[in-house]
Amino acid sequence: MSLKRVEGGPAEAKRRRVNIGTMAVKPWGSMAYPFKIPPPLKSAARVFLSVFLFISPPFLLSWAKQGHSFKLFFFFYLLNFTLFIYLLKKYFNEKSRIEYAAQQMQEKLNMINDKNENEVKYCAALQAKILRYNSLKRIVEEINKSLILDSIAEQLSAAAFSLISNNKGACLMYLVDNQTQNLSLLKAKKEGKKIIIKAKEGDIFDHWVLRHCSALIIEDIKKDFRFDLEKLKHRDLRPISSLISSPFISESRLLGVLRLDNNETNFYSQDDLRFLCRICDLGAVALENSELFEKTQELAIHDELTSLFTKGYFLQHLKEECESASRRNREFSLLMLDIDLFKNYNDKFGHTAGDIVLRRTSQVITNTLKGLEPFVSRFGGEEFCVILPGLDKKKSYAIAESLRERIEEEKIILRRQETFVTVSIGVSGFPSDADRPDGLIEQADKAMYEAKQKGRNRVCCI
Ligand code: GH3
Ligand code: MG
Ligand code: MG
Repeated sequence: MSLKRVEGGPAEAKRRRVNIGTMAVKPWGSMAYPFKIPPPLKSAARVFLSVFLFISPPFLLSWAKQGHSFKLFFFFYLLNFTLFIYLLKKYFNEKSRIEYAAQQMQEKLNMINDKNENEVKYCAALQAKILRYNSLKRIVEEINKSLILDSIAEQLSAAAFSLISNNKGACLMYLVDNQTQNLSLLKAKKEGKKIIIKAKEGDIFDHWVLRHCSALIIEDIKKDFRFDLEKLKHRDLRPISSLISSPFISESRLLGVLRLDNNETNFYSQDDLRFLCRICDLGAVALENSELFEKTQELAIHDELTSLFTKGYFLQHLKEECESASRRNREFSLLMLDIDLFKNYNDKFGHTAGDIVLRRTSQVITNTLKGLEPFVSRFGGEEFCVILPGLDKKKSYAIAESLRERIEEEKIILRRQETFVTVSIGVSGFPSDADRPDGLIEQADKAMYEAKQKGRNRVCCI
């Protein structure tokens, strides 16, 4: 008898077992053995009876024909027949017992198979999870190595896109603008070039995450009544059927949103969403670190009072500008400005008023030179240095002259009094005056000293 798998799983197997149980198969009928016969003896008795049953009638018949009693023959025949019936019943009982036992074993086997199948599935799921979380460990190590926002964003979006979406659909990473509190697209990963991402400031789903500060899963967009799809149509033509999205939250501040979407419905599971949330939790720390690093860097290169670049950063930039200009065979100029008789101003109006003047002057310099891509720095107390890229000394002289006029005109009201300051400016040019930073600064300083000597409030170049 072949053992076939019972279709329908453990429930069906259980049902069948119950049915078999109610068949009330009694292998030995209502009879009970008075004593236990050893199995080899049983088999020998059966063989003997069978042989006797089949070979005895012809012998008995011939014996009867020889003139012996038919009654005896009949008696023996009846005995044989009874034995035959008994053996037949025994055979069928044994058969049903074996069948019943086989079925029971089959049920057990099916249940073990089902359990095994489930175990295999569970193991595969666990292995996938281990793989994902191992990758997550690697990603954490990678993002912790970097403090650059762009590289962190690249790592996070690439990890989410490959580990969760298997590089299918799209993955978008938005950052929250600290001033406007709007989202702005930082990284986008797409399955194909055909996918066009239009929602650079996020769509209704990203705004939902931003508003609720919580993760979102949509299995079928058409069946989700929380969102008005009409609004979506106007924003993005990309077909989306399901998505998961999670915010980057650090110390109850929302830094951004990471979202995965796909054209297929039910593409993402709750497990995928949980994994995306883990990526965002770890990513939030890295994003905050990079933000702090950027701020520290900004502070290191910017002057606290005027927000212009510091002297140290200016010297570094001037060196780079010299190298770049000589490589590209380009000219540039350096302006050195010094506020005239600033000590007197301080003495007359006080140090705080002097600070206001320094701030205002730096604003005037930045605003006047806007469009010329200047590099403006505070070189010392009341001295400023400006690099004008791509401009020769002649053009720079004219620009410096208009800047001097603009500063002279700037009215600064202090204690209801109109006050004015003037500046003396020295100009030097690369490569006409010098091709090294030291030489350029020296020439501009000399020119400025000359302007002071000639009576201040003027521009000079040597
Ligand atoms: P000159 O026309 O020859 O440049 O005369 P000056 O008075 O501007 O030059 P001097 O070097 O004698 O004085 C510079 C003054 O700048 C001295 C200092 O009080 C003032 N100063 C430097 N740094 C600051 C600052 O951060 N805030 C204020 N309020 N004043 C400053
Ligand atoms: Mg000075
Ligand atoms: Mg001065």
